[in-house]
Amino acid sequence: MSKPAPSLHNKLNQLRERFIEQLPSRLAKAAEQWQQSRLSADEHSRLAPELHRFFHSLKGTGRSLGFERLALLADQAEDALTTAPARADLDAYIQHLLRQLHREQQHLSSHHGQKQALAAMNSFEFTHHAEPVRNKRQRLVYLCDDEPEQVDQLIHHLRCFGHEVVHFIDTETFFNAALARRPDAVIMDVQFPQGQTAGTETLANLNKLTNQPLPAIVLSAHRDFHSRLSAVRAGSGGYFTKPVKPLDLMLAVDELTAPISEEPLRVLVVDDEPEAAAYHALLLEQAGMTTQQVHHPADALTALERFSPDLLLVDMYMPVCSGKELATIIRQQPEYIGLPIIYLSSETDSQKQMSAMAAGVEAFLTKPVKPDELVSAVQLRAERLRLLRSLMTRDSMTGLYNHSTTTELISKTLAQAHRENSQHAMAMIDIDNFKQVNDTYGHLAGDQVIITLARLLKSRLRLSDIIGRYGGEEFVVLLKGVSAEKAATLIDSLREDFALVDFHAGDVHFRCTFSAGISSFPEQFSTESLRLSADQALYRAKSQGRNQVVISTERADAP
Ligand code: GH3
Ligand code: MG
Ligand code: MG
Repeated sequence: MSKPAPSLHNKLNQLRERFIEQLPSRLAKAAEQWQQSRLSADEHSRLAPELHRFFHSLKGTGRSLGFERLALLADQAEDALTTAPARADLDAYIQHLLRQLHREQQHLSSHHGQKQALAAMNSFEFTHHAEPVRNKRQRLVYLCDDEPEQVDQLIHHLRCFGHEVVHFIDTETFFNAALARRPDAVIMDVQFPQGQTAGTETLANLNKLTNQPLPAIVLSAHRDFHSRLSAVRAGSGGYFTKPVKPLDLMLAVDELTAPISEEPLRVLVVDDEPEAAAYHALLLEQAGMTTQQVHHPADALTALERFSPDLLLVDMYMPVCSGKELATIIRQQPEYIGLPIIYLSSETDSQKQMSAMAAGVEAFLTKPVKPDELVSAVQLRAERLRLLRSLMTRDSMTGLYNHSTTTELISKTLAQAHRENSQHAMAMIDIDNFKQVNDTYGHLAGDQVIITLARLLKSRLRLSDIIGRYGGEEFVVLLKGVSAEKAATLIDSLREDFALVDFHAGDVHFRCTFSAGISSFPEQFSTESLRLSADQALYRAKSQGRNQVVISTERADAP
């Protein structure tokens, strides 16, 4: 069990203060509405739902923020309104509860009350820490090898895929460096000249000292059992005999280092109570998710489109439209059929919960929800959607966006670009003489080339860029916020690096190149004209001899 981070405390306190600040006027309004509703049957039917909702949300938010007594009084008022509307002393009872609520509010407004509530909050259990979400694909790799052959080649391959590589030629310097700045992975040669500690022994010492095994790969000239055993004992996760195939080594480094965290899950929180929305959003953000809040159900559709969340967290009772109605509206739109929706409410009546679930909602959480429960309920369902989505939108061989998704995402970006006056560049990339690669080295070797180029693009371009596999050996990239010239420089550096990658087919090794055509927005104004221009530039690159990047010279306004 761990305590929430200080920043969470501060934010929660701000929420609580805001809630208490607004309480007097909200209570006064409720008291006035209650008086008004006693005047006539019409007034009553007009105001009763609003009063009910007021007590209901006061109960839910009160509990979530740790104001137990307030929540209890609100619960009693809600209960009286719903279960005993005909009781003779109803008026007196509600007046009594409103007075009690007022007293409780005065108590809370005093410093003392807030402290008590704070103490209650602090006993919440948090198992999800505010771990910074790592978006960087780059890893720090230490390569410790004193033999010059192959080292340059290994370094090239690792750098090519975006890793930061530091090379050491003796184990002592490596040892000290690893203590000063811990790498994400180590590639360690076994043999070093007389007088130096051996590679595996250095690793073992380091692990003993830091008590935290370093992800390591051992390179060795020996294939025997004892060499392998000593590597395993030194905590090595991989063993390669020299000469090493650089691409294989690079894959092993990837497997060894912790999986790159995906983009944070996105959750849209819909709640008419700003404090409740902010509170739940805070809990989810604390667990590394990205959230957006909507306080009016009518704004939910626009927010859905703009924010494209992985999950919707909806309050059950809201003015204008209930959570159930909102879920139905959303479900009636084909693009949101799979979107998971979780209701959040103070409703404990299982009958009502069941009926709400009929709108195709995934789960029903009762306020106050335990932070851990909220986080895991959301995570589980949002991740499932991510998986389903990725099966539909991504190419299974490379993990890049498939053709239709690429086009769709680019069109969306352009639609936004029209509003914002931004500039973007498109690169159409095609592997050179790829048919010949297949014919000479086999289809599997060809696949390896495609996968490698996809990985190169993923590791070197920004997360916000759109990278798609457009066809067999053809890729499309939308580089956001850059000019055609800048995009050309960037793609050209990728081209140079890619041309030096060694591929293996059996015992032979070979290299591959690609050509690229670049076009840009706003010179080309639509997805289709961007694509056509980039394609024409690519065609020029091919006819001028391949292995080059060409910028489209066409202008949309050209005669
Ligand atoms: P150019 O330099 O003009 O682009 O010549 P090219 O040979 O690369 O172009 P062409 O379009 O004639 O050939 C592309 C080849 O790519 C044909 C096809 O068999 C192969 N291919 C397409 N998809 C895949 C795949 O997924 N794996 C493998 N191994 N080959 C593929
Ligand atoms: Mg080709
Ligand atoms: Mg082709």
